[in-house]
Amino acid sequence: MDGKFETQYPYLSDYLFLNLLNTTKRQRSKRMDFLVDGGGVEEWLKLMQQLNLLDSQQINKLMEQPIDASELQAFRVRWRDHLSQLEIPEYPLESLAQYIKQAPLYFDSELTPIPSKGGTAGLLSLVSFEMLRGIKEGLFEKVKKCGSAPCYSFFVDVSGKRKWCSMEVCGNREKAKKQYLKAKDSQAQQQQQ
Ligand SMILES: [Zn+2]
Repeated sequence: MDGKFETQYPYLSDYLFLNLLNTTKRQRSKRMDFLVDGGGVEEWLKLMQQLNLLDSQQINKLMEQPIDASELQAFRVRWRDHLSQLEIPEYPLESLAQYIKQAPLYFDSELTPIPSKGGTAGLLSLVSFEMLRGIKEGLFEKVKKCGSAPCYSFFVDVSGKRKWCSMEVCGNREKAKKQYLKAKDSQAQQQQQ
């Protein structure tokens, strides 16, 4: 795989579930969806493997059955909504547990979770397991939406001070915007004098 696809994302996280929620972005006023655009779900899975968030055993299992992008989109919409709420909501843990029930996980000798079914059910089971663990470990309290308005990414703010999903893309864009507005402001002031 070339690096081009990877750089289309403003930010790639260390968590599978956040990367799934971040499979959408705005590009020139259009909304882009990595679950259907370009290489679709398959390309996204390959990228997750490159990031070591899925291994070949898990990928092979998932590929045994088709993955339905529309079901993943519905999951994404629901959880993006939950995470966008200002108050920390009561997360619907039961719905995550249901996904795991539909494709129970077993563990290899390295404790890697492998879903018992492939396809959509398998992927959502893996993602739900990671989310339940994250919620239990207090990870979700640190999940933030990127402070750059055109960006849709969520990220984990470990320090509690981070504003952008990535400094390279969103941080620099916001800094440049601030500088531009400042320069425009001082220009306007000079003209008034
Ligand atoms: Zn961002």
